[in-house]
Amino acid sequence: MSDISAPRSSNVVIVGAGPAGMILALLLARRGLTVKVIERNPDFHREFRGEVLQPRFWHAVTEAGLADLFTSIPQEKFDALRFFVRGTLRGLIKAADIDKTFPFFTWMTQPDMLTGLKAAADAFPGCHVEFGSRVTGLIRDGGQVCGITYETSSGDIHEHHAKVVVGSDGRFSALRKLGDFKLSHQSHQFDVMWFEMERPESYVHGADIFLGDRLNCLILPKRPHKIQCGLLISPGSFKKFREAGTESLAAMLDATHPMFREFSRKLIDFKSFTLLSAVVERVSEWAQDGLLLIGDAAHTCSPAGAVGVTIAVETAIVADNVTARCFKLGDFSKAVLDNVQRRREPEVLKVHKIQERAGLLLAQNPLPRSISTWIIGFLIGSGIAPRIMRGMLTRRADNPLLAKMPD
Ligand SMILES: Cc1cc2nc3c(=O)[nH]c(=O)nc-3n(C[C@H](O)[C@H](O)[C@H](O)COP(=O)(O)OP(=O)(O)OC[C@H]3O[C@@H](n4cnc5c(N)ncnc54)[C@H](O)[C@@H]3O)c2cc1C
Repeated sequence: MSDISAPRSSNVVIVGAGPAGMILALLLARRGLTVKVIERNPDFHREFRGEVLQPRFWHAVTEAGLADLFTSIPQEKFDALRFFVRGTLRGLIKAADIDKTFPFFTWMTQPDMLTGLKAAADAFPGCHVEFGSRVTGLIRDGGQVCGITYETSSGDIHEHHAKVVVGSDGRFSALRKLGDFKLSHQSHQFDVMWFEMERPESYVHGADIFLGDRLNCLILPKRPHKIQCGLLISPGSFKKFREAGTESLAAMLDATHPMFREFSRKLIDFKSFTLLSAVVERVSEWAQDGLLLIGDAAHTCSPAGAVGVTIAVETAIVADNVTARCFKLGDFSKAVLDNVQRRREPEVLKVHKIQERAGLLLAQNPLPRSISTWIIGFLIGSGIAPRIMRGMLTRRADNPLLAKMPD
């Protein structure tokens, strides 16, 4: 809610209290900078978002000195990714084969994560998060961005001035549009029909990929007693599923894995499904004078590999480092802010490429299942699959986020 006593200027204003925005707010506040965060939602309870964190997440937050904070946030851990073909387990990749330091995958809801980050940020009097307000414009002084205008939940328009404006407002970023940022890359390999159901008795805790004859599905644990299921479909094909009707979809689900039987028996309409377009996007230049995009706003990740939160958080950690340098130099120009993109883009590019290849394979069923089964067995048994996953889900120790910047 809008707080009329809140200061109308700060060192930094951040638009969007997702993982990237809240981590950056906390890190900057920890340095003694004043920070304002504007979040359009009234609280952290949002539509389902990334809830699985990969080993590389723990490398990043440990490097940033936030490991104790994240360890204290409610979470579950699991140690393997399983591949099923027509309901039968055909392969398993252990987290320990991917990362020796953090040999586990973590399940943490975004509301829990963001609440934990805000509680830590609240300890710093210079940090203020304003809910229920959405950014409406950029304030410029010549070419330099020096603040934002935003609309509060009661419809008032306010100005907020800052030396650095950060857009961490996600894949549909308003700041991307307001700043007229251009995309350098966009792809769209698949859509996801998300639904949730109670955990069946047969459910074994973990993350699963089910390859069926006509459908592929991703299953993730959802606290405290549900599972989150994502049907991977080709772009734009949701309409065809609706036209074919619930009976047809129920039959496909049953053929994908027996655990869906209870859910598909009760399927009478499509209200249980939420559609997500899994796009991969990169903005061509992430910074302007006084303005910086981070997280999904700069480099939207698809859900493939469940790595978007980690990549967003890594960029936020680098953005903290670069923003601190801006204040040290008294220089808030694009030239200095560009260091975020310079240091992060090669890694983002690598992850996006793997996501795009995985997306192509998972969204369609191009091969007969006997061949898919053989390929999965071979990729896992030969160590190729864990190696590919390592490229996406871990970060090499000799590639630190906080490498010293040249003076
Ligand atoms: C369905 C789904 C499943 C996913 N699964 C995973 C997963 O398991 N693991 C994983 O790592 N990643 C996953 N991802 C990706 C992950 O959610 C994102 O990469 C990550 O949340 C990006 O963080 P962010 O802080 O950059 O943006 P976001 O989390 O999108 O946060 C942006 C914030 O900005 C706010 N905002 C937007 N517009 C405005 C405005 N105009 N004014 C003020 N505030 C605004 C939004 O309300 C939001 O709070 C998934 C994504 C989706 C959509």
